[in-house]
Amino acid sequence: MNRSYNFSAGPAMLPLVVLARAQKELLEWNAGMSVMEVSHRGAAFMALVASCEERLRLLLRIPANYKVLFMQGGASAQFAAVPLNLLGDRKTVDYIDTGVWSQKAISEARRYANVNVAASAKEANYTTVPLQSAWKLSADAAYLHITPNETIQGVEYHQFPQGFDRVLVADMSSTLLSRPVDVTQFGLIYAGVQKNIGPAGLTIVIVREDLLNKASALTPSILNYSLQAPEHSLYNTPPTFIWYMVNLVLEWLVEQGGLAAMAAVNERKATALYDAIDSSAFYKNTVDKAYRSWMNIPFTLAQDKRDGLFLEEAEKVGLMNLKGHRMVGGMRASLYNAMPEEGVHNLIGFMQDFERRYG
Ligand code: PMP
Repeated sequence: MNRSYNFSAGPAMLPLVVLARAQKELLEWNAGMSVMEVSHRGAAFMALVASCEERLRLLLRIPANYKVLFMQGGASAQFAAVPLNLLGDRKTVDYIDTGVWSQKAISEARRYANVNVAASAKEANYTTVPLQSAWKLSADAAYLHITPNETIQGVEYHQFPQGFDRVLVADMSSTLLSRPVDVTQFGLIYAGVQKNIGPAGLTIVIVREDLLNKASALTPSILNYSLQAPEHSLYNTPPTFIWYMVNLVLEWLVEQGGLAAMAAVNERKATALYDAIDSSAFYKNTVDKAYRSWMNIPFTLAQDKRDGLFLEEAEKVGLMNLKGHRMVGGMRASLYNAMPEEGVHNLIGFMQDFERRYG
């Protein structure tokens, strides 16, 4: 076996032990059937659904007054589901624009609500988060939406806005389960699972109970939290195999010591790579140091004509998918939970060697 280190922004690496376990159980998971072949309403699968929720509640210390949903359609479906479910009898919603994913959330919300962009990092070329003191919140917004980790720009909030009584909604797609988070600061958290939590196909939604039962009559049933919650997210046929994989990843996270332990490893990985970038004149990351992401680290080479060669040589030594997003250019290394520290050290070693040869 020759496994690469996959630095993709998602779908991303999965822990090897999780893949091996799935391989072992693939033909026979329960009663002589693969998990892909069982009914989603049968006892065995329902037990899996319950275990998945329990593990997530344990990892994130989710209080009893929050519902946990496993939905479909990715975080992109939540861009519509959030305003459809939470607007109620208000007209306005507040959004903070910190990059590409905030903008996608904003343009989808505009179909259903008046969107007030309370602050934007556009003038800083999306290399920072606007200071909370400069946010122009509207008086009567149904909620305030933030994107705690901008996967493309590599900008992350390391603290969340505080000191105002407003329903805070967060798209945590590329950060959820990478570190502890105080769920009680939020009215709603959502995240696609394909970065830190599993293969693509499910979206976790954690929503405070008092925000249910406000959905617009036009909300598609499949996106309606108040219909999904009493059905344990089994309103229709879910991607059962993905759910099974998510449950295995959650088990692995518990075994690793939970989110505080993951945070320590993730901070070490990110710090090592930023230190390597900052100590070289050949590599550069322009994100404001206070907001540099632990998960997605974009960087450029001093000579961008070498980008193609960098990627080609990296792949030859098993360092895959380092090409930056086309909107930002250069490189991007995504260091989600399943990326071992060794993968980051190999990348740093390769970068130093490349610089010696071409810098
Ligand atoms: N939000 C963020 C922060 C993301 O990184 C992504 C995916 N890269 C999305 C939303 C969209 O997710 P999906 O493809 O699951 O709809």
